[in-house]
Amino acid sequence: MPGFSDRDRGRDRGYGAAPRFGGGGGGSRGGPPQGKFGNPGERLRKKHWNMDELPKFEKNFYQEHPDVTRRPPQEVENYLRSKDVTVKGRDCPKPMMKFHEANFPNYVMDVIAKQGWAEPTPIQAQGWPLALSGKDMVGIAQTGSGKTLAYLLPAIVHIQHQPFLEHGDGPICLVLAPTRELAQQVQQVAAEYGRASRLKSVCVYGGAPKGPQIRDLERGVEICIATPGRLIDFLEAGKTNLRRCTYLVLDEADRMLDMGFEPQIRKIVDQIRPDRQTLMWSATWPKEVRQLAEDFLKQYVQINVGALQLSANHNILQIVDVCNDGEKDDKLLRLLEEIMSEKENKTIIFTETKRRCDELTRRMRRDGWPAMGIHGDKSQQERDWVLNEFKYGKAPILIATDVASRGLDVEDVKFVINYDYPNSSEDYIHRIGRTARSQKTGTAYTFFTPNNMKQASDLIAVLREANQAINPKLLQMAEARGGNSYGGSWRGGKRWL
Ligand code: AMP
Repeated sequence: MPGFSDRDRGRDRGYGAAPRFGGGGGGSRGGPPQGKFGNPGERLRKKHWNMDELPKFEKNFYQEHPDVTRRPPQEVENYLRSKDVTVKGRDCPKPMMKFHEANFPNYVMDVIAKQGWAEPTPIQAQGWPLALSGKDMVGIAQTGSGKTLAYLLPAIVHIQHQPFLEHGDGPICLVLAPTRELAQQVQQVAAEYGRASRLKSVCVYGGAPKGPQIRDLERGVEICIATPGRLIDFLEAGKTNLRRCTYLVLDEADRMLDMGFEPQIRKIVDQIRPDRQTLMWSATWPKEVRQLAEDFLKQYVQINVGALQLSANHNILQIVDVCNDGEKDDKLLRLLEEIMSEKENKTIIFTETKRRCDELTRRMRRDGWPAMGIHGDKSQQERDWVLNEFKYGKAPILIATDVASRGLDVEDVKFVINYDYPNSSEDYIHRIGRTARSQKTGTAYTFFTPNNMKQASDLIAVLREANQAINPKLLQMAEARGGNSYGGSWRGGKRWL
C-alpha cells in the first residue's frame, strides 16, 4: 500500500531523546513566563510566503482498507452513535474500528500489539483516517481519550514520506503543548513509537538548561514537542527553525489560551508554511478556541467524542462530604487510614493554594504518611522527581495544587481527594479525572464547606449527569442559595476527563 511501507532508512538515525528535567512553559496557571527582554517573540517577523517557491510536499497518505470499504453504512452509523462520536465538516473518511485498518507500518503495529489493547479508542478510530488523509482537523478530546496516538501515529506516517532532514533543518512535526508535564508525556510516547521508526524527538520547555535541548535540535529531530515560551526563545536565537514543518499539532488548545499563550502561539504559527497540515485538540470548545481554529485551519473537519457538555468520567465514584473547614483534617486522616489499608491506594489530594499544599505535606510527613507535594513554585527538577516517586509507587500520596489537575496521566491513581473544593466544576472534573484512567475505576472524595456554597448547584449537575448519589446536605445548600436550575454554566466540553 503506497505510503505505508517502510522506506529505506540507510542512514544512522538516533533515538528519541529522553525527557530532561526543567521548567518554564508555564506549568501552573498564571500565564506564560515573560521573556527576559521585553515581549517574547518580538524579534520574530511574520513570514510572507510565496507558495510557488516553496518545495512541494505530500500530506494525503490515506487509502481506505478494504474492510472499511466493505463495512455497511448502518454498522458505521451504529458504531459512531454507540461511541458518542459526532463529526462536523465535509469529506470525513469512515472510521476504522480495528487497528489493522489503519495500515500503519509494521514497526508501529508491533509497538501497538505489545500494549494489548482491544481496539482503537473512538478518537483514534475517527481521527486516524482523517489525519492520514492530510486534512486539517479539530479533535475535542483530552488526555485519557487516546488522543496522543491519534495525532502522533499519523505524524510518523507523514514524516516517513518527507525527504530526510538535512543539516540545519528544523522539525517536520511540531507539537505545541501548554505545560512541560504534558509535553514530556507526549515526548515519552513519541520516543516509544519513534524509536521503532528511527525518528528522533525532543521536548523543549523552559526552566531547564537550554544546552541539551539545543544540542538535540541541532543534531536534527523530526518531532519537536514544545511549550510556546521556550520555543520562541530558540526561534528568535536561531537555534531552530520551522522551514521544514508541515505537520502542526496544537494540543490542549483551550488550556494554552487559558494560560495566556495566544500571542506566542500566533508568532510560532506565523513561522510555518500555510499549506501545512494542522491538527488542533481541545477539551472544550469556547469561542476563543473556535477563533483559533478559524485562523489556523483550512476547511477543517471537527470530531467530538462525547456530549458537547463538560461531564465527569462515569467510571468514577464521586462522594461529597459536606462539612466545615475545621473538620477537614480529622476527616482526611480517617479517610487515609482506610485508603492506605487497600492494596491499590495511590491517591492525589488537591489543595487550593501552594501554601496549604506545603503545610499539609509537612504535617502529613511529620505524622509518617508517605506523602509528597507538588505545585508551581517548586523547581522543575523537584516536580519531576516527585512525579516519578508517585508514578512508581514510592510515595503513594501526592498533594497537589491544580498544577496536577489536567493532563497528568498516572495510570493507577485510585483515589482523588479534594481537600479544598476548586474554583469551578470544570476544574473539579479535571481533578477527579486523574483517577479511572483507561477504563479503570476510581473514587473521588470531596470536602465541600459552606464557603463553597455558590458552587453547589454546578456540582450537583455534574453528579446528576454521572448518575451519582447526591448528598442531601449539598441539595440543601443549593436550595438555600435559591438555585434549582442545576449548573449548565460551563463552556462546551466532553467526557473522559
Ligand atoms: P492519552 O489520551 O493520549 O493521554 O492516552 C491515555 C491513555 O490511554 C494512555 O495511557 C494510553 O497508553 C492509553 N491508550 C491509548 N490508546 C489506547 C487504546 N487504543 N486502547 C486502550 N488504551 C489506550
